[in-house]
Amino acid sequence: MRILVPYLATHGLRPFHRFFPDMLWRVDAQARTAYLTFDDGPTTECTRPLLDILAEYNAQATHFLLGHHAEQHPDLVDAIVSAGHRVGNHTYRHPDPWSTPQEELARELHRTTEILEDLVHAPVRALRPPYGHPTGFLREWCATQNQRMVMWDVMPGDYLQTATAERVSSFVINHIRPGSVIVLHDNPICEDVTPQALDTILDTLTARGWQFDAL
Ligand SMILES: [Zn+2]
Repeated sequence: MRILVPYLATHGLRPFHRFFPDMLWRVDAQARTAYLTFDDGPTTECTRPLLDILAEYNAQATHFLLGHHAEQHPDLVDAIVSAGHRVGNHTYRHPDPWSTPQEELARELHRTTEILEDLVHAPVRALRPPYGHPTGFLREWCATQNQRMVMWDVMPGDYLQTATAERVSSFVINHIRPGSVIVLHDNPICEDVTPQALDTILDTLTARGWQFDAL
């Protein structure tokens, strides 16, 4: 199980990428550039440790924030954008799009866009659906609101109970490709895993010439 989930969420989805070209799975790139993304923040437990590690390796990332977390921690949102990272919408309270009425999802998305744009003073144009669950409604919403739904091509499963920093970092190092979009979490459930994994990922890959940009 501990190997199966990241494997399926990575390799299992790759055949579907071409059927949903409106959703971003991987950036078209030849060079050793990849895109780290962090979902669920900002949090008092993880955001600053993650930002410190990113800064150490001069890496940029995209942080898909929850509206209610951003409201509670405007200082952390400020720290994220001040460090040159970008923010995206991860809804207000993380409802599952597969079981949430469209009107409620729309309210969550608009409310979060407003909160984030007020804090960062710039348009927010990227959405990561909670649980990575896209729907036809979300795709339509993105098209009409000039938003981009950002999925991934590397999902190491740092949120799993069985995750370890070593497994997460090895998975990313073994699966990264030019233009990869990598999902990690700014979430207390993986505070003992993700920062340590990120340090190993950046230490190993920057030594091999990889760079990390924001989407
Ligand atoms: Zn999430």
